[in-house]
Amino acid sequence: MATAAPESHLRENPFRLAQQQLRKVADTFGIDDRLVEVLRQCKKAVEVSIPTTLDDGTVRAYSGYRVTHNIARGPSKGGIRYHPDVTLDEVKSLAMWMTWKCSLMGLPFGGAKGGVICNPKRMSPRELEGMTRRFTSEIINEIGPEKDIPAPDVGTNAQTMAWIFDTYSMNKGHSVLGVVTGKPLTIGGSLGREEATSRGATFCLESALRMQQRGVEGLRVAVQGFGNVGAYFAKLIAEAGATVVAISDSSGGIYNPNGIDVAAAFAHKRSGGSIPELKGGERITNEELIALDCDVFAPCALEQVVTEENADQVKAQVIVEGANGPLTPAADEILDAKGVLILPDVLANAGGVVVSYFEWVQGLQEYFWKEDEVNARLREIVTRAFDETWATYQDRNITMRMAAYGLAVQRVAEATVTRGLYP
Ligand code: GLU
Repeated sequence: MATAAPESHLRENPFRLAQQQLRKVADTFGIDDRLVEVLRQCKKAVEVSIPTTLDDGTVRAYSGYRVTHNIARGPSKGGIRYHPDVTLDEVKSLAMWMTWKCSLMGLPFGGAKGGVICNPKRMSPRELEGMTRRFTSEIINEIGPEKDIPAPDVGTNAQTMAWIFDTYSMNKGHSVLGVVTGKPLTIGGSLGREEATSRGATFCLESALRMQQRGVEGLRVAVQGFGNVGAYFAKLIAEAGATVVAISDSSGGIYNPNGIDVAAAFAHKRSGGSIPELKGGERITNEELIALDCDVFAPCALEQVVTEENADQVKAQVIVEGANGPLTPAADEILDAKGVLILPDVLANAGGVVVSYFEWVQGLQEYFWKEDEVNARLREIVTRAFDETWATYQDRNITMRMAAYGLAVQRVAEATVTRGLYP
């Protein structure tokens, strides 16, 4: 019997939303239409077929994309996603957000993203390696340390980066450390990179709470997603004194108002278990997690999880966007009207690309830093970006998202004007 294809998490076209968002930013900040015309499109999008031999001997051709949105401020930077719902327009929207994120953080990078339509959870390590190496060879002329530098994203990790690094290096005839970031420590990764996105989110939340004259101690936090970002965010925020009341993965979650044992959840996930199997909490769905009674909600999984349909159920007073684009613009408006403080993705989850920048610099110099140094510099960059965003938010009486995007887009626009349009 045929089963219906699972519904994509993308209900609206994400690239159209990103373009509408840019339009709104341009109107609010008075950015010239000629610049908007440049910035609303992606510079380059490459689509490749990735024929891969599966373990049963059959061959499957996966579709992959690598998109560069903009390089006005430097080589393009951004992760590669392995997920069944990947579309070209999703990758384009994520590439555009990378441009804004790098700009807001003051990094000398533009924005890019890659994706392959596949289900990595159902693939063997050998299949994943074969697909990754073939994908790398198909985009080998697009990437490079001075050109475009991939990193992990949803469904990829340090091992994926190791295969990309090795394939690229074997083809060049020497090791090229700067071609990807998020590499394993044994082959030129940076200390602190794995936790970086979540550490940045924690710094951001702490700064916001400081502005509200309160602290993390005793705060009830619900975290959606237990991949790299969600898992480390839950861990770090619990270590900082918060009570993590709910966690989840794609199969569902658990809730315990007295706090969840995050370390046990970590160990359980590492050994291949799923979150709803955990003891020490009431089972909940991801939908229920969004509506939980808590102080902080951290969506750390996919885009468009909070929409106009469920936004009014959110009870948290602060949202930390560990994921990229977890709120649709309609949800954003509803939550803003309710007075929820939203720490937007380009600010809250930028810690990952900041330490990617450190890893790239360390690789180019072949000189590696201590973990304390990495974390201290990360704090400096994220806190500065937070303060700039907060000041703009207060001065202009706009949302934190609009302030963050406004600062970011203005900088890219300035770089474009200064460089001039070629020819
Ligand atoms: N995929 C991550 C992001 O969305 C990290 C990108 C990077 O380190 O280049 O920010």
